[in-house]
Parts: sequence; structure tokens; C-alpha cells
Amino acid sequence: MSKRDIINPFNQAVIATLEDATPADALAAVRAARRAFDAGEWPQWTPVHRAELLREVADLLARNKSDLARWETVDTGKTLVESEIDVDDVVSVFRYYADLATRDHTRTVDAGPGVVSQVRYEPVGVCVLITPWNYPLLQASWKVAPALAAGNTMVVKPSEVTPLTTIKLVELIEQAGVPAGVVNLVLGAGPEVGPVLTSAPEVDLVSFTGGLRTGQTIMRSAADTVKKIALELGGKNPNIVFADADFEAAVDHALTGVFLHAGQVCSAGTRLIVHEELHDAFVAELVRRAENIQLGNGLAPDSRSGPLVSAEHRAKVERHVAQGLAEGATLLTGGRRPDDPELQAGFFYLPTIFDHCRRDMSIVQEETFGPILTVETFTTEDEAVELGNDTDYGLAGAVWTADRERGRRVARRLRHGTVWINDFGPYLPGAEWGGFKRSGIGRELGPTGLAEYQEAKHVYENTSPCAENWFG
Ligand code: NAD
Repeated sequence: MSKRDIINPFNQAVIATLEDATPADALAAVRAARRAFDAGEWPQWTPVHRAELLREVADLLARNKSDLARWETVDTGKTLVESEIDVDDVVSVFRYYADLATRDHTRTVDAGPGVVSQVRYEPVGVCVLITPWNYPLLQASWKVAPALAAGNTMVVKPSEVTPLTTIKLVELIEQAGVPAGVVNLVLGAGPEVGPVLTSAPEVDLVSFTGGLRTGQTIMRSAADTVKKIALELGGKNPNIVFADADFEAAVDHALTGVFLHAGQVCSAGTRLIVHEELHDAFVAELVRRAENIQLGNGLAPDSRSGPLVSAEHRAKVERHVAQGLAEGATLLTGGRRPDDPELQAGFFYLPTIFDHCRRDMSIVQEETFGPILTVETFTTEDEAVELGNDTDYGLAGAVWTADRERGRRVARRLRHGTVWINDFGPYLPGAEWGGFKRSGIGRELGPTGLAEYQEAKHVYENTSPCAENWFG
């Protein structure tokens, strides 16, 4: 086993030193999950019993909110208030799936006299759950809660960059009384332990949230054994603002939509598509506000945004900005690291706005996952929709207009998994989340988020069997 230092991205202080799992450990975790599914006590638990466990986990998470939020902040760099919101959301997700677990989803199909036909929903089996570094606790809970609710066993593999709150989540699930072997934790680098997890024949399903390239690798790795696959990948999300939009609300949300958590949000509104008439006033106001965003330590109450997660990630953001300049976009603000001496130890990058962007530019098409906004303009509704859909991704988008009919029309035409009208960013435990096109396969949250972890089984019972003599 090798040791790994976990770093606070605000000041590079070592906040924990953990041991990475080896591929053999990963295989052992998979086998423990297999045994617990095939022969353990977990399959005997009723849905009501499982729901009680989920509610107990929710209570424990709520009771540990302040510790969890602090760890999330020192691990990811995000502000404490964001981490606290994350913990509240996680508690809601466990409660939501506790409620859903106890509903009887069995469906009876009318097959005429003498037949009882029922479709039942059973757990898939052993699930591998792999999560990224930007919302560590939240992304883990969107997988673990429905996977438990459906009765699966699992191996959880958090990002090696931000594992702290996932470790705590697994501890709390154990404290709530989950049987041994049901939830297994594997730490370590994705390329080291990931291939074992995603190819092992004992695994039935892989649910992954992370980057597009990793998602493609995982799909290939899971193909030989035809595992079920759920992928939540990146986004390049359009924020379309018509000239009749509520200016104040639209500017405010455009700013938060792209610069919250330093833009390290899969649904960040990185692509502003603004009506030509509104462009000058809107962009000038955005620049003014972007320059006033208080960067700092996520734990400090006056910080409004933290650092990027790592030196490697900042280097990637810097490469994208250099490409944007080389392609001829106009840099209005940012485009560099801050000068503030107090921020020099952290991986900070200034909120950055590029104007006069074209749809063929790489900064408009590729996910940067940093505090970078690109601005394009439109004149007609058709043009706005065409630009909003001109991406290989399809995760989320927004439309701002005072015309309700137009808002709904544009929402129908956008090829994205979530569309906000006159808002940016909210999600609900009961509403599906996920992507069209290369933003992924499947959905998290909502009833579909549970169905991902279930197999449908049709039981056809003939209540008055008789010979048919087909062959005479
Ligand atoms: P990443 O793809 O680098 O890593 C994600 C996870 O995959 C980590 O746990 C990593 O260790 C693991 N991994 C890496 N290589 C692997 C392999 N070969 N086999 C198995 N596992 C492997 O992503 P990241 O940099 O941690 O996260 C950022 C990305 O996540 C962005 O693209 C972002 O858009 C996406 N994301 C999407 C959503 C969504 O809901 N759609 C939410 C959050 C983040």
C-alpha cells in the first residue's frame, strides 16, 4: 500500500494522510460485496427495514452536519455555506429514497383469465459507485442512497483528491447498522484500482460521475461482462438571456451560475448567449461584479469563492484560457492568478470573462471546469436555440425571458437534461438529473434514480395449466 497526502487547496496544508488500496484490495472489496449480496443477511431485509436504515443515516448526517461541512470545505476549497447546503441536500436525498423504498412498485399486467402476471423490481446486485472531487458527499449520496433503497450491495470509490466526507459517510452508514459487506470503501487513484472494479465479473453495475474521457474508458472496461452502466459526465451549459429578461435577476444568476465553486460545477453556466441589444449593458455589469467577487479561504465567512481543487487542475484551466486568447476571443477580465499575497499558497484563479466568442472556439465547446465565462450573441429565437444546442454535451441550460410562452417553447427545444426558466442551478431530490448526448447515460435522483439500481422481473403464473399439444 502507498500513502497519499490529502491537501487543502486553499493553502496546500496536509489535512490527512491515507493509504491507497491496491488492485488486490479492490478485488477483495468486490468479493465481500458479492458474498453479502448472494448469501448475507441483507437480501432478507424488507423494504421497510431498509427505509429505516436510510432514515437513520439521514439523522446521523444531519447531526454531523457541521463536521461534514468543515471537512468538505478543507478538502475541496468550496465555501462553508456551500458545504452546509450540500449536507442538507444529502440528508434530503436519503429521506427521499427512504420514502420511495417502501412504496410497492409491483405492477400487475392484465393477461386474461387463468394467468397472474406481475412485474417486480429487484436489486441489480453488486454495484460499483465511482465519484468525482467537486461535490464529493453529494455525488456519493445520489448513488449510495438509491442503491441501498433498492437492496444492492456496493463498492464506493471516491475521488483520490477529496475522499474525506465519503469515508465519514460510510462510517455513518455502518453506525446506522448496515450488515457487514453491504457497503465497501476503496480509496486510491482511479487508473490503479478502477479497472479492477469496472471489469470484475462479480460486479453487475457501474455508476460513474466524472469526466467524459474516464466515462468512455469505464464503458469499454465494463463491456466484456456487459455490466449495466450509468454515466454522469460533463457539460457545456448554455445560459440564454433574451432582451426582455429581468435584468437584475438574470445578471445575478449568470454570475453565480458560472463562478460558484470557482466554476467547478458540471452544470455551470459557462456559455452566456445574450441578445445583441442587451449585450453591452449585461456584459459590463457582469464584469463589474466578477471583479468584486471575494476569493479566499472557504472557512472565512466573507469568502464568496474558493480556489481550484489542485495545481494540475489550475494548469488545465490556464491551458484553456491560453487557447481562448490564441483563437481570438476578447479577454474582458481575469485570465490570470490573483495578486493578493494571502492567496499565493492556494490554487486560485480569477473569475474570467471572454467576449466575442464563436461557437467553433475550443473554449466554447470544451469543458474547462473553471471560472471561465464565454459570451456569444444572438438576434432571433431560432438562433438562440441553435447555439444552445450546438454542443456535444447536453446536461443543463437556462432561458431568461419575460415571455412565458417563449420560455417554455425554448425549454422544449433545448436538448439538455435540465432546463431552467428564469433561474439557474436548482435541482430537487424528486426530479431526474442527468445528460442528453455525451453528458451521460441514465439519470440520478427521482424515481428513475432508483430504477437504475433495479432489475425488472416478469413473473407469469398460469393458474390452470393444461397441455397445448403444439407438436401433436
Ligand atoms: P475524473 O473522471 O477524473 O474522475 C472521477 C472518478 O473516476 C475519480 O474517483 C477517479 O479516481 C475515477 N477514475 C479515474 N480513472 C478511472 C478509471 N480508469 N477507472 C475507474 N475509475 C477511474 O473526474 P473528476 O476530475 O474527478 O471530476 C470532474 C468531472 O466530473 C467533470 O467533467 C464534471 O463535469 C464531471 N461531473 C459531472 C457531474 C454530473 O452530474 N453530470 C457531477 C459532478 C462532476
